[in-house]
Amino acid sequence: MANCARLFFALGLDQGLRDRIVALSQPWRASLRCRWMAPEKLHLTLAFLGDVPFDRFPVLEAIGQSLRLVEPLSVQFDRLELWPRPQVLCLTGETPEPLGGLVAELSRKLAAEGFAVERRPYRPHLTIARHAHRLPTDPSFAPIGWRPRKLDLVESRPELPGAPYDDLKSWCLDVLSD
Ligand code: ATP
Ligand code: MG
Repeated sequence: MANCARLFFALGLDQGLRDRIVALSQPWRASLRCRWMAPEKLHLTLAFLGDVPFDRFPVLEAIGQSLRLVEPLSVQFDRLELWPRPQVLCLTGETPEPLGGLVAELSRKLAAEGFAVERRPYRPHLTIARHAHRLPTDPSFAPIGWRPRKLDLVESRPELPGAPYDDLKSWCLDVLSD
């Protein structure tokens, strides 16, 4: 639909994390046939919105703005999973309480504005490859601890070459001190 954009909220990665993911996935890249995500496209989805009419953007901007202040937040990625239905390989981990709280607050605000929200329990996942059919022989890696600093409202353009993601709006996360 021309008057819509395919959107999602995500935590934006920093270059250090992108570099680590590229490095740790290097041995897997050599042995698996799948479509590896370009490093600049890596993101941690918080809520997928689907096609959103342009006139709803201000509501989403207000919601993003309202979420800028967060509890101290650290995510640990410690395993590689194959999700067979979407055929993705992703780095996953537990959902720490501040992240679960952030996703719950976002979902609540989206639902209050009439957006359809995810019913499956939230799983933090960094999709690193698509069209994946198996795990590498050795899927182990040194766990990665990460402190997110940026909330993004992202547009996905699957119809364009390279299926780019554009950050429509980004907010620096301000961490509340305890
Ligand atoms: P786009 O299609 O615009 O690139 P995406 O939704 O495919 O975005 P990801 O957030 O990386 O991007 O999700 C990868 C896949 O994992 C998607 O098919 C998504 O539906 C699925 N997924 C996301 N969250 C869950 C969950 N909690 N449980 C099961 N599958 C999930
Ligand atoms: Mg998808």
